[in-house]
Amino acid sequence: MSTDEPIQREELPCGVLFVGAGPATLSAAIRLMDLIAKHNDAIDQGAPGTKIDTSEQPVFMIEKAAEVGDHNMSGAILDPRALRELLPEFEKMDPPPPFEGEAQDDSLVLMLAGGGAVTAPVTPPTFQNHGNYITSLNRFTKWLAGVAEARGVQILPNFPGAEVLFTDGGAVKGVRTVDRGVGKHGERLSSFEPGTDITAKLTILGEGVRGHLSRGLIKKFKLDEGKNPQIYSTGVKELWKVKPGRFPLGKAVHTAGFPLSLTGNDFGGGFIYGFKDDHVSLGFVVSLDSPDPALDPHRMFSRWKEHPYVKAILEGGELVRYGAKAIPEGGWFSLPRPYMPGAMLVGDSAGFLNMTRLKGIHLAMKSGMLAAETAFEVLRDQAEATEERTKAYWGRILDSWVFEEMWKVRNFRQAFQKKPFGFLRGALAAGVHVESGGLWPPGKLGLQDDHHRIEKLREPSNGKQPPAQLLPTVDLAAKVAASRKDGSKTFAPKEQPAGMPEPSVKTGGIVYDKVTDVYYAGSTHEEDQPPHLVVADTDICHTRCAEEYGNPCQYFCPASVYEMVEAEGGKGRQLRLNFSNCVHCKTCDIRDPYQIITWVTPQGGGPRYSGL
Ligand code: SF4
Repeated sequence: MSTDEPIQREELPCGVLFVGAGPATLSAAIRLMDLIAKHNDAIDQGAPGTKIDTSEQPVFMIEKAAEVGDHNMSGAILDPRALRELLPEFEKMDPPPPFEGEAQDDSLVLMLAGGGAVTAPVTPPTFQNHGNYITSLNRFTKWLAGVAEARGVQILPNFPGAEVLFTDGGAVKGVRTVDRGVGKHGERLSSFEPGTDITAKLTILGEGVRGHLSRGLIKKFKLDEGKNPQIYSTGVKELWKVKPGRFPLGKAVHTAGFPLSLTGNDFGGGFIYGFKDDHVSLGFVVSLDSPDPALDPHRMFSRWKEHPYVKAILEGGELVRYGAKAIPEGGWFSLPRPYMPGAMLVGDSAGFLNMTRLKGIHLAMKSGMLAAETAFEVLRDQAEATEERTKAYWGRILDSWVFEEMWKVRNFRQAFQKKPFGFLRGALAAGVHVESGGLWPPGKLGLQDDHHRIEKLREPSNGKQPPAQLLPTVDLAAKVAASRKDGSKTFAPKEQPAGMPEPSVKTGGIVYDKVTDVYYAGSTHEEDQPPHLVVADTDICHTRCAEEYGNPCQYFCPASVYEMVEAEGGKGRQLRLNFSNCVHCKTCDIRDPYQIITWVTPQGGGPRYSGL
């Protein structure tokens, strides 16, 4: 089929369209169906009004993963507050929610660089999890999907949204799904299948962190005007089966310190949660506002695993699964206005997360439920989803415990962006902030974008090619040494990541290289499709970026997607994209210093996060 031929698309109208199947959208869909059922029952009992017919106005949910839950991963310890409101009888449901058990034994461990570890005598309240449930977000999402489908929600997995559709008046009117069978150069293959235009009265986007469509809407409707920028961490996680008795079910350990320095400017820490059958969920989270251009979350996770405290748990065990994802941690002041004409943002797409507790699932669920109440009113009143209508969602957020919980810690994350002694000073200031219930510091503290905080190896040389000796190498240490010699400003990375050797890469070991870990993420993408990582100007990679930052993409990507390789014909180094490795974590979209990388939805594929 010629690329110039106009595409005939099918249109699929519905009442409410959810984009992404995660805890926020699934909770929203369940709430919406319950409200509709209650409303219809009341009318059957003689109440005034018109019934909402979901066969005429179906509720659709599109999901980019081949199976619901495949792209969902988290720690996770679930605060059941929202779940209890959504499904008050959840403990008695059949099947029951896939909880590993209640979190019973919390501790905060300070890991020391020399190999020691000190358990805090008192676990800070934010790390106390009594009454919360240890779970796999992947399994929990699947379970919620079953509940939603039983209520009549039509979930369409393997339907990635490609672009937002608008009315002539500029309101959101739905989403176009991806065209399939498009070759790597944009040509239509014999297998070409045009995407479908799914139109809806109201679209609710819960695509997860840094959603591609949500990001476009935030920009178009200026939803972030007057707000702090959203900032992120990247969490790298594995699921292990360990030797019997090494780590009990229900135990939850959070770690501070190693491999981060308490006096440095990186924010982060580790977690270890005990699952059933000697399975352990563990991960390391590090902020993407780190000044280190060689920040490598996967490498940091590897170093953390090699600390004697963690090693003692894992040794002799077996890696089961791997995953990585970004975490929105800016807090209340970084939330974009989550409503616009025809649409609302929920969950991680908006940034509903409480970083002091390292928890967002309950806030995501509640945001979805409040969006659903707003959607229900639109359907009930047979109204248009104008901005006046969708604004009611924000009113509900302000009246809810979402506001209460996030407002109390509204300046928490900001405390860690100050220098010097970033982490230590931040921990003290943030501690006072949390303890005072948000009274101090008062007001709104600002934040800087993650990518603006990366320090340069060298000052730019007015767009000229970098010195020849810098081109054929990615040896960061050499760059630092060279730039020191000519007296330009330098930033010395704390690690030496040149060549990216990983400490040990053997099955049965503790640490795995990125490519092996990608295998354990189960990530695959059809090779004959346009790369879903769009780099607007690849010349910058081997010129300005090589010189100024040493190509941070080689380090921050936890799946080895970005490589600087020798170009044919001795033309120096150029970027190679191994996009089929991508685990959809969005780190590149966030941390690229020039903001020229855009993550867009691929035609299919991605990780399979079973049990994560
Ligand atoms: Fe994450 Fe980007 Fe790497 Fe994909 S390419 S794994 S989104 S950093």
